[in-house]
Amino acid sequence: MIESFNFDVIGTIDSPYKEKFAIPRQPGIVSAAHGQLRLIGTANNAELVRGLEQFSHIWLLFIFHGTQAQGWKPLVRPPRLGGNKKLGVLATRSTFRPNPIGMSVVKLDRVEQQNLEHNKSQVILHISGLDLLDGTPIIDIKPYVPYADIIAGADGGYAQEQPIESLSVEYSQAAELAILNESIIHPQLKTFITQVLSQDPRPAYKQKSTDDKVYGVSLYDFNIKFKVTDFSTIQVLSVLKNNAL
Ligand code: SAM
Repeated sequence: MIESFNFDVIGTIDSPYKEKFAIPRQPGIVSAAHGQLRLIGTANNAELVRGLEQFSHIWLLFIFHGTQAQGWKPLVRPPRLGGNKKLGVLATRSTFRPNPIGMSVVKLDRVEQQNLEHNKSQVILHISGLDLLDGTPIIDIKPYVPYADIIAGADGGYAQEQPIESLSVEYSQAAELAILNESIIHPQLKTFITQVLSQDPRPAYKQKSTDDKVYGVSLYDFNIKFKVTDFSTIQVLSVLKNNAL
């Protein structure tokens, strides 16, 4: 019996999510999240993705590299259940698993082959709706095939519906101005920040409550400071370029 396998990483993710905090819990929730998947090594060859552009969505299999070193336990507390009920790790999408493998369906916006110097080239898949940390190693890519992958009437257990945590997001004048100044390079920045924050990224035990804390999150190369002003509103205080901090 084969007891272990070694896989080569075939690609790596450039993501606007620079830290775990505030990454949505599943793909598709923040549609304005745009990222790139760069194929690497022997997989960086346009032949591997010939025909993939016909598909609107793809499956990504990846390594939870940001939490891998923390190991795993048989029981975990899904945030969906308020963080106070334990379930078997394999009954959840927890990042802390026996094999730290994740799977996400993302939108495939475009396949690009970039010509570099010295006759080299780089294959890039432009993707959106991702729920992946910057630098995530990819171990496989497959087309999303609706006839097989959609199962009408499937039972989603305790996670049947997408969580509808929808806080309204307001911006200070300074934050509005900072976003406006970035509009050429990041035309969707405000939509993106709004989508990320409206899901209330705070820990499960803090949600549905107000608190005085000022939170910070890194998205692209910005540090965004916000607080929750009442039960349903997030106030964005500032949007600062990381090198301006
Ligand atoms: N859709 C995937 C799945 O079902 O396997 C991931 C679900 S997991 C609950 C989503 C969370 O994984 C995100 O909110 C983020 O905190 C975390 N995450 C994303 N990329 C990661 C990485 N490379 N390393 C560690 N954690 C990561």
